Amino acid sequence: MTASEIALESGAFVIAEAELYQVSIPMHEPFRISSGEVSDKEAILLRIGDGHHVGWGECSAMGGAFYSSETPETCYEELFRRVLPPLLERQFSSMLALEQELEKLSQNRFIRAAVETAAWDLIAQGRNVSLRQLFQIPERAVPSGLAVGLYRTDKELESALRRYNPRQYRRLKLKIEPGFDLKVVGTARKMLGDFPLFVDANAAYDCSSLSTFGALDDEALLMFEQPFAKDDLDGLAELQRNVRTPVCLDESIETAEDAERFIAAKACAIVNIKLQRVGGYLPALRIMGVCSRLGIPLWMGTMPELGIGSAQALVLAAHPLFVFPTDVEPSERWYVDDLVFPEITLSNGCIESPAGPGTGYRVDRRKLDKYATSCHRLGR
Ligand SMILES: [Mg+2]
Repeated sequence: MTASEIALESGAFVIAEAELYQVSIPMHEPFRISSGEVSDKEAILLRIGDGHHVGWGECSAMGGAFYSSETPETCYEELFRRVLPPLLERQFSSMLALEQELEKLSQNRFIRAAVETAAWDLIAQGRNVSLRQLFQIPERAVPSGLAVGLYRTDKELESALRRYNPRQYRRLKLKIEPGFDLKVVGTARKMLGDFPLFVDANAAYDCSSLSTFGALDDEALLMFEQPFAKDDLDGLAELQRNVRTPVCLDESIETAEDAERFIAAKACAIVNIKLQRVGGYLPALRIMGVCSRLGIPLWMGTMPELGIGSAQALVLAAHPLFVFPTDVEPSERWYVDDLVFPEITLSNGCIESPAGPGTGYRVDRRKLDKYATSCHRLGR
């Protein structure tokens, strides 16, 4: 089934009420990538209801605007003032109708992801089925990968790798930036031998760094994730012509058309999908359709999100197209606490979602009250 057919099957629904929460949960340590760092996880949680059932969504733009121009604060305002009010007490004939309305209301994919995924959850709860059943994805435990941020010294990296123990997972991803690349990989290789490994540059390089990637090409990495700027199609294609290691794109791929364009130009050989970056399940399913047709393998990335967003990512990550381990990690990996129960846990390098409607995970309202820094209610 195509994404649009799945959307039409959703049937009609109403959004009668909405609650918005801004939450802040301390992280065990700051998360540093090539463009900045955060030390508390800020996110917006959205609860929508039709009077009988409720669905949850997460809007997880990164704080500090260094991953994208959206921040939790701007997203909260936009959801509260502009996006949610016109959606209330409206009957939508299907998820396709909601998607069209959302595209008119906001250019912000983090916001569209929150509303869209909450609506899918609402539909799943109403029918008492899992999201995987709605999307026709077979159940399976999802292999999980460890990601670590940038560390300024070998010692710091070594101690982080000892603390987080990559061998509990199915692979390790290292963040790199110019000056912190070959040595970072060397340190990890020395500790982990031939354990599956790759690097994520978050667009920190350009074509002047071909020799660095030439040297990294000898390290038998699974992939180079987003080595160059998101729009640098020609540069990425040139890099891929020069290395055996597959180039994986993250920030570059916001739509199915982007996937089509970058794959056709041979600017990537692997795609990473993030629900937040692409605006929810339907855009993700469309990108999956393109990758399936063109024979490009996928994996599921994260911002990272809190439990609700992570649980949503796990839904798609079970699809057979996702052949590389996901970035979704157990709840305790990043945060001192999480808002879902059961917590997301790792077993034999994999994450098994609980049975039940929606994602299978539920929201702990007590913890939500504890970590909420603002809350607004709209509708009935
Ligand atoms: Mg990435």
